[in-house]
Amino acid sequence: MSDIDLIAERLALRGHRITPSRRRVLDAVLAQPAHFTVDDVLRSTRNVGRATVFRSMKLLLDLNLVCRILLDDGTLHYRVSTRGHHHHLVCTDCGRVEDFTKCDVEPLVRELAKATDYEIQAHWLEVYGRCQTCRLLKKEAITVG
Ligand SMILES: [Zn+2]
Ligand SMILES: [Zn+2]
Ligand SMILES: [Zn+2]
Repeated sequence: MSDIDLIAERLALRGHRITPSRRRVLDAVLAQPAHFTVDDVLRSTRNVGRATVFRSMKLLLDLNLVCRILLDDGTLHYRVSTRGHHHHLVCTDCGRVEDFTKCDVEPLVRELAKATDYEIQAHWLEVYGRCQTCRLLKKEAITVG
């Protein structure tokens, strides 16, 4: 089953119709590189209204079909992902992103809820570093340079 069929099926399961403009947004999303911004999607869906693109992205997010990645320059990127709750390890040199699912934040969140009497709804954790390729490249540059 292709990604588009899988996504269409998930949307249908929750009672969302695939309108022609939603379909164009989905196609644009699936044609993007590993991660992308809403502006990237807007650029490749010229005949779809801005509001429709934003609503579609929100829907995909709510249905856990895309996730959001905060790059270290402050830009918010999206990525197609159906793996549910997870976090990201982001390379600050090349922008490569790895997912990690091990989440040790839960005990902290429980403690925080108890201490503050908040009903905690979500948390966000990104880890930044330099990937092996970028580290090796840097080393080479120093040796050669
Ligand atoms: Zn993700
Ligand atoms: Zn890198
Ligand atoms: Zn977590």
